[in-house]
Amino acid sequence: MVLAKSLKELLALLSELPGLGEKSSQRIIFHLLKESPAKVRRIASLLVDVRENLRPCSLCGALSDTDPCGICSDIGRDKSVICVVEDILDLLSIERASFYKGVYHVLGGLISFSEGIGPEDLNVQGLIERVKSGNVKEVILALDPSVEGDTTMFYIIDLLKPFKVKITQLAFGIPIGGNVDMADSLTLTKAFEGRREVEGV
Ligand SMILES: [Zn+2]
Repeated sequence: MVLAKSLKELLALLSELPGLGEKSSQRIIFHLLKESPAKVRRIASLLVDVRENLRPCSLCGALSDTDPCGICSDIGRDKSVICVVEDILDLLSIERASFYKGVYHVLGGLISFSEGIGPEDLNVQGLIERVKSGNVKEVILALDPSVEGDTTMFYIIDLLKPFKVKITQLAFGIPIGGNVDMADSLTLTKAFEGRREVEGV
């Protein structure tokens, strides 16, 4: 069967997405072709909408359609505790476990010399400004247990040293090389409960 040009292009584009090979992309497309045109139109327009209208929250850096985001503007959240995460996926994973009542700071990546990502590429300055304001009691570093995660963590610890703020790191039940966003809720809850203060600060 010779695929229609549009179908071929859609398949090629979807196959480039993380976690989707050609087979999964085919499955998704042929599933969508059986859905109602209204539903497919809704999915397409929401995709465009989130891409074009979500902006980083000016406080925490999380993508949101409001500024500040829903978490930063929630009066029920404890603004004196900031959990530092690599990206929105880690934030969502922690939110899913629904035990954490503080706020977040989204770095937008981790320092990686092999990939040419330096501290200047991350949303670190915003974190320092928040801590400088003096209303922050604890910064929880919830970064992946990896070379990049450790490098980023030590960099942030150094920057926060001059401030009187408690810095903690997760007690990882997450295996080395594992990811915060892939950890299940129980593992994350335990990693938070057992968090320990970073020594030598
Ligand atoms: Zn926010």
